[in-house]
Amino acid sequence: MTTSIALFTRDLRVHDNPVLHAASTADRCVPLFVVDDAIVSSSFFNSNRASFLVDSLTDLDAALRERGGRLVVRRGQVAEEVARIVRDHDVTEIHVAADVSRYARRREEALRGLGADLHVHDMSVNAVPPLSLTPSGGGDHFAVFTPYFRKWETVHRRGVLRAPQRLTTPRISGDVPDLRHGTPSPELAEGGETTGRELMAAWARTGVADYADVHDALADDATSRLSPHLHFGTVSVTELLDRVGTASEGARAYTRQLAWRDFHHQVLAARPESATKDYRTRGDRWRRSDRDFAAWRDGRTGYPLVDAGMRQLAREGWMHNRARLVTASFLCKTLYLDWRRGARHFVDLLVDCDLANNQMNWQWVAGTGTDTRPNRVHNPVAQAKRYDADGAYVKRYLPELAEVDPAHVHEPWTLPEDEVKALDYPPPIVDLREAADRFAAARHQR
Ligand code: FAD
Repeated sequence: MTTSIALFTRDLRVHDNPVLHAASTADRCVPLFVVDDAIVSSSFFNSNRASFLVDSLTDLDAALRERGGRLVVRRGQVAEEVARIVRDHDVTEIHVAADVSRYARRREEALRGLGADLHVHDMSVNAVPPLSLTPSGGGDHFAVFTPYFRKWETVHRRGVLRAPQRLTTPRISGDVPDLRHGTPSPELAEGGETTGRELMAAWARTGVADYADVHDALADDATSRLSPHLHFGTVSVTELLDRVGTASEGARAYTRQLAWRDFHHQVLAARPESATKDYRTRGDRWRRSDRDFAAWRDGRTGYPLVDAGMRQLAREGWMHNRARLVTASFLCKTLYLDWRRGARHFVDLLVDCDLANNQMNWQWVAGTGTDTRPNRVHNPVAQAKRYDADGAYVKRYLPELAEVDPAHVHEPWTLPEDEVKALDYPPPIVDLREAADRFAAARHQR
């Protein structure tokens, strides 16, 4: 008799799951999730992510029960909990998804030598395995996106896997615990594969076709909002790519965005220290200003687009990509504060927070990462006029500007003095021209 463990990590789904698919061919299968104390006690486990995780584990348990099994949840140190189940239930095989962070790779090492065969499955978290592509000119990873994408597109992807129809799980303890804590964002999205699949189906049917034209239109909210599902694996990236196809311009643009996700993962896999250290140092001597940082964090900089983005983050635990670019650029280039400080605040709130995507996007914006134009600055007023022309996005998140005429909403300081005074809205904390000069000088651009 064979007994397997399907160790779920961030692949919390029954459909198109290589780990569960392989583990379910054993006579008995223990679908296992270990709540790792090291993660739960870290700031990565913010209240938004805790809430999304509980939704996802509960939904996964229900899906497994429909198939005759159940989800076993244990708390502690992953390898110790796996070892205990291997011993107690004569487990012959352990299945787990490949992943890129240092933590994930240490976990994989710890799972070896537990007395059962370890199978590590690629193409569960990523569409293309992180270090499977290398530049023809040499090097262990791609440092520039476009050539990476050209290769990525040519990779033959595996087919979509069906959810197992039946599972036999031995009698074993471990119910889904309530790990919620703190106060999640009031408009946080719901987690779980059921919700994720509905979102994916609707997106493939009606959303993706226009993506190329509208993904930057802030007020339209016309992106997939699948990032937390991709992060927790309640939606499979392989199935998503399969569903959206390549027939429309929108689908092709969307596929390119999904490749960015793999791109950042391969950078972090090759350079794990980039989670905290500059990937390419620019000799920055960042300013330290608690006052400026607090204004940015609280959405009180006096630049409406920046403030709207930061308030969206607080309200939803998620922020539109264009707003992420503008708010991050404002922190590290306009205020010239350390990107790590901004990234940390995103870690504290984002429901989709992913070590590779968050840190490497922050580095990209800061110009210490893979951007080939490291000193470009996103001007918050120009960006607002371009991507939120009538101010609808800004007004949604800044009720204090709701009545301001669209001609002034992105520059409220241009209103007549008495009207400016009547607004409960701060004046700009920094002059954009002076800030641009300061940044240029710091980067020796003058
Ligand atoms: P869509 O526009 O629908 O894109 C589809 C998917 O493509 C996304 O869900 C995501 O998985 C992927 N994707 C899109 N853009 C990027 C990108 N630039 N880098 C990597 N993957 C991308 N994304 C995260 O998933 N987690 C993070 O922690 C994160 N932090 C970020 C921090 C900063 C400073 C910036 C500028 C971007 C960050 N992003 C992060 C990337 C991007 O903003 C989000 O993936 C996107 O806004 C999620 O919304 P969506 O699912 O509607 O995206």
